[in-house]
Amino acid sequence: MSTKNVYSFGNKTAEGDGKMRDLLGGKGANLAEMNLIGIPVPPGFTITTEMCNEYYRIGQDAVVQLIKPEVEAAMKQVEDAVAGPKFGDNTNPLLVSVRSGARASMPGMMDTILNLGLNDAAVETLAAKSGNPRFAWDSYRRFVQMYGDVVLGMKPVSKEDEDPFEVIIHKAKHDKGIVNDTDLTTEDLRELVVKFKAAVKENTGKDFPTDPWEQLWGAVMAVFDSWMNERAILYRKLNKIPAEWGTAVNVQAMVFGNMGNNSATGVAFTRDASTGEDLFNGEYLINAQGEDVVAGIRTPQQITIEGSRRWAALQNISEDVRKEQYPSLEEAMPAAYAELNEIQQKLENHSADMQDIEFTIQDGKLWLLQTRNGKRTGAAMVRIANEMLKEGMIDEKTALLRIEPQKLDELLHPIFDPKAVKSAKVMAKGLPASPGAATGRIVFFADDAEEWAEKREKVILVRIETSPEDLRGMHVAQGILTARGGMTSHAAVVARGMGKCCVSGAGEIKIDYKARTITMRGTTYNEGDWISLNGSTGDVYDGKVNTKDAEVSGDFAEIMTLADKYTKMDVRTNADTPNDARVARGFGAKGIGLCRTEHMFFEGVRIKAMREMILSKDEAGRREALKKLLPMQRGDFEGIFEAMDGFGVTIRLLDPPLHEFVPHQLATQKELATEMGLTLDEVVAACNSLEEFNPMLGHRGCRLGNTYPEITEMQARAIIEAALNVQEKGIDVHPEIMVPLVGVIEELKLQAQIINETAEKVFAERGKRIAYKIGTMIEVPRAAVTAGKIAEVAEFFSFGTNDLTQMTFGYSRDDAGKFLKVYQDLGILKNDPFEVLDQEGVGGLMRQAVAGGRATKPELKVGICGEHGGEPSSVEFCHTLGMNYVSCSPFRVPIARIAAAQAAVR
Ligand code: ADP
Ligand code: MG
Ligand code: MG
Repeated sequence: MSTKNVYSFGNKTAEGDGKMRDLLGGKGANLAEMNLIGIPVPPGFTITTEMCNEYYRIGQDAVVQLIKPEVEAAMKQVEDAVAGPKFGDNTNPLLVSVRSGARASMPGMMDTILNLGLNDAAVETLAAKSGNPRFAWDSYRRFVQMYGDVVLGMKPVSKEDEDPFEVIIHKAKHDKGIVNDTDLTTEDLRELVVKFKAAVKENTGKDFPTDPWEQLWGAVMAVFDSWMNERAILYRKLNKIPAEWGTAVNVQAMVFGNMGNNSATGVAFTRDASTGEDLFNGEYLINAQGEDVVAGIRTPQQITIEGSRRWAALQNISEDVRKEQYPSLEEAMPAAYAELNEIQQKLENHSADMQDIEFTIQDGKLWLLQTRNGKRTGAAMVRIANEMLKEGMIDEKTALLRIEPQKLDELLHPIFDPKAVKSAKVMAKGLPASPGAATGRIVFFADDAEEWAEKREKVILVRIETSPEDLRGMHVAQGILTARGGMTSHAAVVARGMGKCCVSGAGEIKIDYKARTITMRGTTYNEGDWISLNGSTGDVYDGKVNTKDAEVSGDFAEIMTLADKYTKMDVRTNADTPNDARVARGFGAKGIGLCRTEHMFFEGVRIKAMREMILSKDEAGRREALKKLLPMQRGDFEGIFEAMDGFGVTIRLLDPPLHEFVPHQLATQKELATEMGLTLDEVVAACNSLEEFNPMLGHRGCRLGNTYPEITEMQARAIIEAALNVQEKGIDVHPEIMVPLVGVIEELKLQAQIINETAEKVFAERGKRIAYKIGTMIEVPRAAVTAGKIAEVAEFFSFGTNDLTQMTFGYSRDDAGKFLKVYQDLGILKNDPFEVLDQEGVGGLMRQAVAGGRATKPELKVGICGEHGGEPSSVEFCHTLGMNYVSCSPFRVPIARIAAAQAAVR
């Protein structure tokens, strides 16, 4: 721990600086830094974040003892800086603000107290000295209110309850028949203070503290306390900010934007936070203080003329009215504006990033109160990084590191109109399984979805959970909502693959398939009613919410090109159709890392042939059915090979348990019986016989291919024939055949033997050859441990981290949703391991597998095709393992490309 616990700043000098975020918090560090680069900032001091931790360790009295001498000395420095007013001197009072400030910005999470130091005597002096009694009493009533709310705990906990002070103000305004706070007279404000103090006495049993030092210590402790309030804890959890960081406390001389019509307060951005346009912009209010601008009490005005004109155009306000009633700061206070404009440029240049700033103008004099890197949308993020690169403000590596990979999602999917979202009614919350915005009419069954879609109806498919049978319904739906299932449930994975909006695992919704209704927060919706899904937040909204198409700007493409310059890993895609392959290629995918063949078996006549194969009593019957499937598979593969001309295509042999393909509804079972000339009982019995207690650990993967070799034979033939066919057309084809779920080398050996024999047969028939590779998924822990042996046969490894996570933890990924959330709350797990790769456990096995595999075969190609292949921290980990590629769903390709480039740059 440092021996210095309080850092002063003011008059363009400072004891701290901008690099001391950890100790001074972001706000404190930047206040110091602004002083150092000559920007006018009211003087003050910062109590370190370490003291927050001390407060929780040794308690209030001990921590006050510890820092009292330093705080008193720092306060003297402030007094020297302002030359005149003294803290606690009622004949010439110095007023201060007490502000929190953690390492990471936590906007609005903790409360600030302004005008501290006022009491009945000081307010009279302030009134006399400023010659503005209204201002003095306005400041006083604000102070009593903030102090009562924040320090004395009178702020209501729930949103429904009203702030006792607001109730009093409301009544006062009502009694006088006025609307705006600014219409309250000095006399009104005086009366308010009396009533406020009475309310304090009534609520707390104590008089409002009059001693400024008592007020100050109370406020400092309240800031420390606020670090552990519910809002702050929740925010930290959502943003993964550790509780150990603590908050600093900034005590700063007040400057007053509420001193009359030559005073103002405002907030501004150095560039447009929503589009990224290089346009200084922001809002201000004359004769106002602190949060007034954002609180929505009065309509704020724009900072620049340009911004003001654009704003007026949107509001249908004429230029004359605009100038008269809502002039920009540039027009209303040109001198202060000119200085502000210069400072904003200076701040942006100095930090080399877009800044979000707070300022106050007191009687014509400008003061800066805060600067920080501004939050921005995905589009703004890309544009700002690219433009700053072109302007020479940042270098290429910095530009790449400025991209938050996940945020690129916003650029790829349709989004809700932000204005529409604000007024939308949230009816339920689920997992943001696949981003995007969807609006449509409720349907409950895949068949209905297709039928409605044919009639050009927009539908949302609502299911308790989805299965492969729902695939076609999902395809035509705008979005998918499920009551069960996690981030890697069937619905989630498939939806992400399709780039389709999906909210999964919305446990609070009640679906009644029979009645065709869904009940959410007490409201029942029928089939055909409109709802909207926000796949980026997990929100389910009532009715239609307007959407707009995502725009992919030129900056986006340029940043992607830059990523390719630095990346060491290729990014492939998981795609099962030529269309998905094309989409992914458009996003920059270099090949297919996983083509799941089973999805090809669900459409129309295919599912019938598939069922016929499954329900056949003997090999001969199966071969008959497989013959029907062969040309269809071959055709699919040809399409995919063509779409991926020049790149590798990894095709995985049949993987899921057969039970997934047979019908579960009586009507369909009857139909099937008729078609196959069987009795209903026979079909039902056959279907039931396929049922497994633990299908995920059952008869699937290469266990199918090894027990029914004719399936592998057919698939190998389809792949090789397709490759030869497209090669004839001049396509550069690189087939890679992947055997799933291998745990024992012999499993792979037998499958490789079938594949090789089949290929030789085809080559002989066609009189032509083609190169192909055989590899395996590493998704069973035993395969990872014995990878050295497996590499004797395998020419490539692809980590199937969904299954590998499932089997390493022993968590069923379809059931884990029930406890994973609790586990994260309890701190047992930091993340959902199906979403963010567990680098220690699962990653440990992967490391072992890469080492083992490459020891046997140094040139072994290694990649990942699980859902983690599109998750940035997991991609970075894959880079450190020295993988050749990651593979992910098409809409995650740009994200993975950036993450891979960032890993290389770091
Ligand atoms: P937050 O972290 O929520 O933004 P701040 O500590 O920045 O909270 O303060 C809230 C508001 O009070 C801001 O508008 C800020 O500019 C204003 N403010 C804070 N300190 C002072 C001060 N010393 N003089 C004038 N205004 C201040
Ligand atoms: Mg602020
Ligand atoms: Mg698998």
